[in-house]
Amino acid sequence: MPEKGQEDKSNQEIEEMRERVDNLRKTDSKYDDSIYTLAKNEDEFREELKKRGVAQKDIDELANIFSNKDLERIEAEKEKWIDNLTGLRNKNAYNEEVPQLLGIENRQNNDCSLLIIDFDHFKRINDEYGHKAGDEVLKKMAEILKQTVRSFDMVYRFGGEEFVIFLPATVSLDAARVAEKIRLKIEQSIVEIVDVRNKKNKFKKTVSIGCIGTDQLKNWDEYNANNAPEFLKKMFNAADLSVIESKKKGRNQVTLYSEDLSSNSD
Ligand code: GH3
Ligand code: MG
Ligand code: MG
Repeated sequence: MPEKGQEDKSNQEIEEMRERVDNLRKTDSKYDDSIYTLAKNEDEFREELKKRGVAQKDIDELANIFSNKDLERIEAEKEKWIDNLTGLRNKNAYNEEVPQLLGIENRQNNDCSLLIIDFDHFKRINDEYGHKAGDEVLKKMAEILKQTVRSFDMVYRFGGEEFVIFLPATVSLDAARVAEKIRLKIEQSIVEIVDVRNKKNKFKKTVSIGCIGTDQLKNWDEYNANNAPEFLKKMFNAADLSVIESKKKGRNQVTLYSEDLSSNSD
């Protein structure tokens, strides 16, 4: 770790560099902003500047700023799509990616499925062991989910202690098997956490799961870019009704969607 004074100095140096570059940009078209967006990485950026006839000394200075800018951009981008507790994709990513993934599966005449996984009695973990311990449990849960599914299945932290998994090329009955595998794996995993009093605790937890496959939905054949958001909402709601059913049946269960769940909820 740099000392506080050193850190300030390098920040100040960067600020001064930025200022010098801003002045150059105003007076010389070689330095206009398009280079920052044209180049994908520092090497490309240096190439572009060389082509424009920028002096090597200036190239080094600008490249330094570019890589800082690049890091900021990557970090900002990451925050938008990645949940920072578990490292899983978040709800924004789900909304952006799943309609497109459904489109790909539809064009290839595949069926695909959605799982919603909700932790059972998660509040009790927070109440008994503290919020930080709860966070640790969520991280472990995310690890188990990722390890249990195939590498191309998409795992999202949808919010709180609720996770969604999109399974490409999977019919509903197979999705229910995957869900059962997850349920069992979590039921059998021993979670170890340190509570607010620094005491080690070991316990087991369970989840309730709901699943739905496109083979259960009538208008899958008519799926297109226009009806994508509405279709996904229907699919999600069906999986959600199935989770509620799992909770009603006593938790630690998998429920595969069936039409009677919709008619009972009207
Ligand atoms: P149920 O079996 O009915 O699902 O019970 P539950 O307690 O899991 O359900 P509920 O949805 O009522 O509560 C979820 C709790 O999860 C509430 C909230 O305090 C906790 N929670 C949500 N997000 C986080 C988080 O990021 N960290 C921690 N530690 N707790 C969280
Ligand atoms: Mg819950
Ligand atoms: Mg919940």
